[in-house]
Amino acid sequence: MSNAYRIAVLPGDAIGPEIMAQAARVFDVMQRHRDVAFELIECPFGAGAYFSHGKGFPDETKAVCDDVDAILKGPVGLSHEESQKIPVEEQAERGAILPLRARYNTFANFRPIYLSPDMAHFSPLKSEIVKDGLDILLIRELVGGLYFGEKERGTNDNGLRYVKEVLEYDETQIRQVLEVAFQQAMQRKKLLHNIHKSNVLMSSVFWNEVLDEVHADFPEVEVVHLLVDAAATAMCLNPTQFDVMVMENMFGDILSDQAGGLLGSLGLMPSACIGPEKAYYEPSHGSAPDIAGQNIANPYSMIGSVAMMLEMSFGMNDEAQAIWRAMQSVFEDGFSTPDLSSGDGTELVSTDVFGDKVMAKLDELLAS
Ligand code: NAD
Repeated sequence: MSNAYRIAVLPGDAIGPEIMAQAARVFDVMQRHRDVAFELIECPFGAGAYFSHGKGFPDETKAVCDDVDAILKGPVGLSHEESQKIPVEEQAERGAILPLRARYNTFANFRPIYLSPDMAHFSPLKSEIVKDGLDILLIRELVGGLYFGEKERGTNDNGLRYVKEVLEYDETQIRQVLEVAFQQAMQRKKLLHNIHKSNVLMSSVFWNEVLDEVHADFPEVEVVHLLVDAAATAMCLNPTQFDVMVMENMFGDILSDQAGGLLGSLGLMPSACIGPEKAYYEPSHGSAPDIAGQNIANPYSMIGSVAMMLEMSFGMNDEAQAIWRAMQSVFEDGFSTPDLSSGDGTELVSTDVFGDKVMAKLDELLAS
């Protein structure tokens, strides 16, 4: 066997195991058609791991993740009410996701926002805005800023309870993600939208200074500066103006969920979290406790995360393209999971059946 890869599989919570089950099938199909072997090692992670192992990111999971070629992570977390049963520090983001990102310094988060013209009817935007589809790459800084800064709670001199959270970036953190964004822009339309808040935040003023320095190495790229609040509006009114967008951590968290709204469902949002030595792949969305256990979650985001892994970690570009094509063909054939229902005669299918159809098409594409 010329290529053998070991992958840590973290199914996560709520819909995580349901959509992970479909994504894992992709590896079987690949092995049947290509000279490649995948060893999948399932590990506890998230809220379920807290209840079974006392930690959201147990030591045994860390050991496996340290050792593998790549990590495939399902969404984690519980409903607001259920989360209260877990100490604040161990709840899914603080106890599992942020430590995972910090451990592997996965600073560049690739969030493709893609809607083919055939899928445009899934978007809530008017047809004149999205009829040609959407193809945006949102790059979010993932290991700095407010989410990773020092946190403090206490009572001040006036006897009032207070909270303080620090937004901190050093120039290396900013430069490394901007370099990735410029490189992506060079491979695409040479257009980069820089999303910031320099009219208020010093962190954005500094971000933009570093951006000017990095831009000097990529003079062919046109940079368009946009304040984050204006960007939120522009994404609704004229999303096709965007090609590559880059932004700091919290802005990216919020705007990428807005992007899920443009597509019609967060279920269409896969992602890749890339560090210098290790990458992990996950849907951009959460664990959707409101639909868990019903076999109706959209597995596109999870299967798409596998496609991103094959391309970005293993260089299997043609195979990744085949996965995207297989998923598109299911939509083109008139099927979707219920999150994308648009009342236009689309036949709604379960998570499993959507997976069956994708695997059948993928099988066909890889055999040809
Ligand atoms: P969510 O992203 O889980 O869900 C928002 C809405 O999108 C819901 O209506 C949900 O049903 C729908 N949705 C999301 N993914 C879907 C899919 N694949 N198919 C169909 N519909 C889908 O956001 P939330 O409800 O605010 O958060 C739920 C939990 O997830 C919380 O505990 C939160 O902390 C956690 N979370 C985890 C991650 C992660 O694992 N990276 C990211 C965001 C939120």
